[in-house]
Amino acid sequence: MNTLTVSVVTPDGQVLENDYQMLSCKAEGGELGILPGHIPLVAPLTINAVRLKREDNGEDLVAVNGGFLEVRPDKVTILAQSAEVANDIDVERAERAKERAAQLLESNNPEVDVERAKLALSRAMNRLNVAQR
Ligand code: ATP
Repeated sequence: MNTLTVSVVTPDGQVLENDYQMLSCKAEGGELGILPGHIPLVAPLTINAVRLKREDNGEDLVAVNGGFLEVRPDKVTILAQSAEVANDIDVERAERAKERAAQLLESNNPEVDVERAKLALSRAMNRLNVAQR
């Protein structure tokens, strides 16, 4: 079968490398679906789930914290500051991070870095979504 090697790499090392039928993700410009043989492409990613269709037709999910997608005809590399496969997500930790970020955003404290808190909230929500699917 025609497949695509997908590698997800962070500063802590490789999170995943496997062969898949298809990759779906949300780039800053919109949804992307990548099949084997796709033309070369580099795209910035949003904080979102990357969905990977396995050869057995099942699906693997990775919570990716932004970064970049690089597509070559037989290989896709995702480089991100952090990324976790669904089974590695600590749900309680993500719940705590979500709560912390939500409290900061609700505090109306002028010293709070709102953009930073929004990003922390997005990372936590993304992890919770991926872990729950
Ligand atoms: P926290 O406030 O809980 O540290 P964060 O969003 O600030 O969350 P990051 O800076 O994105 O965390 O990631 C730091 C490291 O911790 C990365 O290696 C990331 O994969 C890991 N990590 C963060 N949250 C979780 C989680 N809920 N489950 C598993 N690994 C996590």
